[in-house]
Amino acid sequence: MDLIRLRGIGVSPGIALGEAVLSTPVLFTARREAVPADRIPAELDRLRLAMARTAEELAVLRDEVRERAGGENAFIFDAHRLILEDAALRGGLERIVREEKVRSEWALSWTREKYEKIFEGLADESFRQRKSDVEDVLSKIYRNLGDRGRAKSRGREEVAARRVLVAHDLMPSEAALRLSRGQVLGIALDMGGPTSHTAILARSLDIPAVVGLHDVTRHLRTGDTIIVDGTDGEVIINPPPAVLKEFRSKRERYLGYRKILRKTAKLPSRTLDDVRFTPLANIELPEEVHMALYYGAEGIGLFRSEFIYLQRTTLPSEDDHYEIYARIVKAAQSAPVYIRTIDIGGDKALPQLNIEKEPNPALGLRAVRFSLKNQEMFRTQLRAVLRASVLGDVRVLVPMVTEVEEVTEVKRLFREVKAELDARRIKYGRQVPLGVMIEVPAAAAVADRLARDVDFLSIGTNDLIQYFLAVDRSNEHVSYLYKPLHPAVLRLIRSVITIAQRQGTPVTVCGEMAADPLSAIVLLGFGLRLFSMNPIFIPRIKKALRAVETRTVKRIVSAALELETAQEIEEYIVEKILVKHPEVFLGRRA
Ligand code: PEP
Ligand code: MG
Repeated sequence: MDLIRLRGIGVSPGIALGEAVLSTPVLFTARREAVPADRIPAELDRLRLAMARTAEELAVLRDEVRERAGGENAFIFDAHRLILEDAALRGGLERIVREEKVRSEWALSWTREKYEKIFEGLADESFRQRKSDVEDVLSKIYRNLGDRGRAKSRGREEVAARRVLVAHDLMPSEAALRLSRGQVLGIALDMGGPTSHTAILARSLDIPAVVGLHDVTRHLRTGDTIIVDGTDGEVIINPPPAVLKEFRSKRERYLGYRKILRKTAKLPSRTLDDVRFTPLANIELPEEVHMALYYGAEGIGLFRSEFIYLQRTTLPSEDDHYEIYARIVKAAQSAPVYIRTIDIGGDKALPQLNIEKEPNPALGLRAVRFSLKNQEMFRTQLRAVLRASVLGDVRVLVPMVTEVEEVTEVKRLFREVKAELDARRIKYGRQVPLGVMIEVPAAAAVADRLARDVDFLSIGTNDLIQYFLAVDRSNEHVSYLYKPLHPAVLRLIRSVITIAQRQGTPVTVCGEMAADPLSAIVLLGFGLRLFSMNPIFIPRIKKALRAVETRTVKRIVSAALELETAQEIEEYIVEKILVKHPEVFLGRRA
């Protein structure tokens, strides 16, 4: 058997080595089978029965996963119940059967295609991936239409006993179940991206995973030997003994490194000269809080609340918002939780909102601009956030602010919403801090004014760099220009941090820059103390920051800012820091 090496996206680090098991998806029918008019009521009953069975199945799965992997991982099944109960979905399926006089299988197949088109049309990758949740629910209903449906679906679950799961795509609920049962050593998928549920779950359960492999399922059969290298995004099929040996020792090294990081997660967040810093987590789903705390997060520095809209086909109500915030705040165990108001519009269009396509979405009606145009939606969200604030330390973060007037308007709405809650005698925290993201260069330029008006600032370097350097953050053709260490970017960020500190306004960095050890050291040198990032990077950032002295770093960073290019700056800092603290960059790219 020939060795095959495939490249994909490593979404959960680590190395899995073992026997592959290929999982096959539900095949939706392509046949439009007619039903005689007098059999329509019976057909509708069949569909309703399948939906009722699906509801039952979801409840059983939720309980099982909750027991094995904790409530955070069982949440997916509640999300699926909401999809199943969605009136538009249910009504749509019944209408197709009734009006077109067709079998339910066809109604499901057609509906699946419709949602697929809607989701694929979305520009934002993470939103596109929510299509698998709808597909997951539709597949369950489809299976439950058959007489042997339930037996079959249970049969599939027996397959993976401590093996590497290989599939075209993995339904989120299947991932939750199989992964939580501890049967899966690793995952390799044709489809998927870093923000899919499977990826998030794999990370939180510590299972190595590579997705986006395109055709891994074509290259192997159940029983083949496979290596999944989630750290480097590689999959190897039928490795010869020498390669197996190489990866076994790579796995040992990785596990050793992980042990060190895990220890670091528990150590105090203090630099070598005893300056306190605070690592915080950026999350997209409530189930990530648990993992964030495990990795040493001292709070949730950014909850991207637009992800609430991805788990449903209708607009979330105030209670829907509230339930999610309440879960996060409770799971955070009184640590601060920064809830960012929705950053949708523009490229993050949602099917339930019917947003017009814009010619230049990154510069369009997105984030706070969208919220101020859709004030009822915004108020609903603010009310829910305020209600959740009695459960812990909640803060409100407003994205994409460009000018002071927007802050004035948001503050007015915030006051009005509080007055409404007072009138309804609903409790909320009296001192919920309100802050803005600095991610538009204009906001950075008036940071002194903004800092006066709000309780805190949060620098979103992902967008700030994109807009300041005029480089699309997701366009690979210009990615060579996307440089966090560009002297212009560093000067701008330094000025915001300095201004905020001079005015006594707390400031966080919540872009990816905070997750890179070298950049984090630079930010520390600028005086930053609050670093928010993807939770898996927290240990390595803690390790880097614990290994340096702020006074040394400050000196090195000021000297570096005299240099002309990002490359010179990087080389200079690495050289100077390495001389003093050689262990800092260990595993920088892990
Ligand atoms: C940012 O722009 O840096 C940020 C944190 O927000 P997002 O990545 O969600 O745009
Ligand atoms: Mg942003």
